[in-house]
Amino acid sequence: MRLSTLFGRTLREVPADAEVISHQLSLRAALIRQVAAGIYSYLPLGWRVLRKIEQIMREEMDAADGQEMSMPVVQPAELWRATGRYDAPAPGPALLRFKDRGEHEMVLGMTHEEVVTALAKLEIDSYRQLPLMVYQIQTKFRDEPRSRGGLIRVREFIMKDGYSFHTDAASLDEYYPRIYQAYINIFKRCGVQAIPVEADSGIMGGSASHEFMVLSEMGEDTLILCEHCGYAVNAEKAQFAKGAAESSAVLPLEKVATPGTSSIQAVAAYLGVPERQTLKAVFMSDPEGKVVFALIRGDLDVNPVKLSNALGGVELHASTAEELKRVGIVAGYASPIGVKNVRVIADDSLTSGTNFVAGANEAGYHMKNVNYPRDFTVDLVTDIAIARSGDPCERCGQPLQAKRGIEAGHVFKLGTKYSAKVGATFLDKDGSAKPLVMGCYGIGAGRLLACIIEQNHDERGIVWPRSVAPFQVHLVSLGTNNPVVVEAADVLYQKLMSVGYEVLYDDRQESAGVKFNDADLIGIPVRLTISKRTLEKTSVECKLRWDDTVELVAQSDLEAWLVTIFA
Ligand SMILES: [Zn+2]
Repeated sequence: MRLSTLFGRTLREVPADAEVISHQLSLRAALIRQVAAGIYSYLPLGWRVLRKIEQIMREEMDAADGQEMSMPVVQPAELWRATGRYDAPAPGPALLRFKDRGEHEMVLGMTHEEVVTALAKLEIDSYRQLPLMVYQIQTKFRDEPRSRGGLIRVREFIMKDGYSFHTDAASLDEYYPRIYQAYINIFKRCGVQAIPVEADSGIMGGSASHEFMVLSEMGEDTLILCEHCGYAVNAEKAQFAKGAAESSAVLPLEKVATPGTSSIQAVAAYLGVPERQTLKAVFMSDPEGKVVFALIRGDLDVNPVKLSNALGGVELHASTAEELKRVGIVAGYASPIGVKNVRVIADDSLTSGTNFVAGANEAGYHMKNVNYPRDFTVDLVTDIAIARSGDPCERCGQPLQAKRGIEAGHVFKLGTKYSAKVGATFLDKDGSAKPLVMGCYGIGAGRLLACIIEQNHDERGIVWPRSVAPFQVHLVSLGTNNPVVVEAADVLYQKLMSVGYEVLYDDRQESAGVKFNDADLIGIPVRLTISKRTLEKTSVECKLRWDDTVELVAQSDLEAWLVTIFA
């Protein structure tokens, strides 16, 4: 490819609205251009990278016995009604709905469980056909309210999604590690360090979900990591050692005046007790305004996702003053003692000691020597605490670290969630009809491209891993007004292509500075320079993008030198 005719121009300035480094570089290096919010075109350079990423995913899915296929973007709403997702609060408005000319309700697919399960219902009828896995690399649409960060959070995206079908959970359990390993391989081959973490599987329950997280300050997820023992988990699910409060002989309840102490810190200081000797009340409400009273030891905080899961996955918001007033709760001095008309969910930390300080449900007063279950009852005791940086690891006791990450892939045991709803069954050995047991596996190709840039760049531009670089060789000719140099560069360009190299040839009439800056920005692994000076020595100037060393290699040795780089 001659750079003089390449479609898409590099940008010298950082685009004003691009804050994330991968977004900046993918615009500046002419990989992508925005068409509308969260909707991008891939320019030729970006598309070449994307196709290489896709090919790596394809090879790894095929190695896991995957069969590639393609399903439509436009799907009838009835498929989504059959699984209940058309009318469910999630995905809600993220599912783009419209009518075709025949007034049929349609959607743009944001995922393909509906279509693939309906297909499986038609195509699979016997246990003899199982297990099997199908996958596709295809465009999806998700109407995100806030797309941002270039390719990291978009509305239209290309995704590799796979679905496996099994006779039972044991077969899925047996297959799952193969997909998990395929994902490890994909990220490694793409030059990305992705950490597999146990993910929150929400109301689905079970431990059978892993996210592959790429560490980045721009990430929207929080991971909890233990460097010591390797514990890695999404913060939504992370456990930690909570330690114990003091335990001594249970004392009688005592009401004490604590003026102006509506926070845990204030009341602990006022009464001269450690925060872990207090109980904290947190109030959240469901969409109907029903208040949930979350009770936790004063030195800990409530994890809203764990709390929601404890309630069966209900959506929660912080209770409003109005909602609290309706059930007679005095904010800042709330008490679990005598509380009515609310569900009380307690963190298991309240069983870690005795004689806690809690609110008296009266402004300016607290209760001392509050003991569970002597003084109050709760609806459920479970783990609803959030893990924070510095909390001790539950496994080894060393301090945990909280880090931001981008979710780059997700593998998930679905079970019979979809097959049972749409009646996708098979005849088992014993002659009975059973719902297909499913797994689903996704990686966003564009987001992975962004993650590659996030982890492979320097202050001058992208540093592509060899596996996914848009071209292998960036050939620069210096002296485009010297016919001898032009001739020699043209010959080398043709020769390299004839032996199978992908070459981007900078034949433009630009200065050396402009050409080298663009080469650094675009980030192709090998830069070869031909000039009057190199020709005098019948050699080529060779440089690797990740190394500042410049080497003169004799023209006759060049092919052998390149083989060592791409071996
Ligand atoms: Zn640990």
